[in-house]
Amino acid sequence: MSDAPFLFDRLCVIGIGLIGSSILRAARSYGLARTLVAADLSQKVIGRVEELGIADVATTDFGAAVTDADCVILCVPSGAFGVVTEIIAPHLKQGAIISDTGSVKGAVVAQMSPFLPVGVHFIPAHPVAGTEHSGPDAGFAELFENRWCIFTPAEDIDAEALARYRAFWERLGSRVECMTPEHHDLVLAVTSHVPHLIAYNIVGTADDLEAVTQSEVIKFSAGGFRDFTRIAASDPTMWRDVFLNNKKAVLEVLGRFSEDLAYLQRAIRWGEGDKLFDLFTRTRAVRRSIIDQGQETAAPDFGRPHGKQ
Ligand code: NAP
Repeated sequence: MSDAPFLFDRLCVIGIGLIGSSILRAARSYGLARTLVAADLSQKVIGRVEELGIADVATTDFGAAVTDADCVILCVPSGAFGVVTEIIAPHLKQGAIISDTGSVKGAVVAQMSPFLPVGVHFIPAHPVAGTEHSGPDAGFAELFENRWCIFTPAEDIDAEALARYRAFWERLGSRVECMTPEHHDLVLAVTSHVPHLIAYNIVGTADDLEAVTQSEVIKFSAGGFRDFTRIAASDPTMWRDVFLNNKKAVLEVLGRFSEDLAYLQRAIRWGEGDKLFDLFTRTRAVRRSIIDQGQETAAPDFGRPHGKQ
């Protein structure tokens, strides 16, 4: 635990899955709040939170959970932010920071804003960090280290609240950048949402192919397929909600993607190897810059120990 002072007296996290439980673990490890409150709809999840000891208070009562909290972070699926905000709104403390971790920003801001009382500071945020696992056992304190957290606050956000919440995410190990919700949704459509859709699609296609058996798909998966299966194992509820809530940007990027795919299809059909080579050279450079910026490992086979697939 660091010697730095607590940033919050009472931090409340609602939705104790991968992200919510990671925030609690990190807030505890780095000493970010005096009291940690966990709230979840499910009594089973609350029981598990108590067993894990990752919060000081754990409850299914959202109203009681947010009472007196000076920071409240919603970590529920994209479709549930409005309902939860409506429940907690009358109990929020004046001056409290309220935030979320939704992977889509425009729709989440639209769902939450109408319920938020005057006098609370709404700072929508998206930690660009995660794994394909869910639930309270999946979280870990280091999840946000060296990752970006994107904030999409309104222009007139209180500067002190913004600085405090930025400090919170920086002490979780993240770098923070601010942008508009619309820009966030377009950026994430291309870097996360459409790649997930492609992974879901290719894994589905392989599963449907009759001429190639399932055991062959599994046996020879190291040829590239395996890396798609990791992404395509991501939580179905969360990803269904992401696509339904970021429709505009996803359809925009998918349109561009389909055109580019048709270009590749034509190049293959007409034996235009130079077109394929040029693109593959350009994409290799993109990979290089991601590694150079510390967002991925250059270790062979993504650092997997040989033979332990
Ligand atoms: P998760 O592990 O599936 O946890 C979601 C939590 O929300 C669970 O505790 C769940 O409770 C609760 N919940 C579900 N429906 C609810 C409802 N209608 N009302 C209230 N609570 C409800 O999900 P996660 O991966 O932590 O994701 C949480 C949020 O962070 C999502 O908005 C997601 O888009 C975003 N996010 C995820 C990632 C990622 O890689 N996973 C990365 C960045 C941001 P029960 O267990 O009782 O169902």
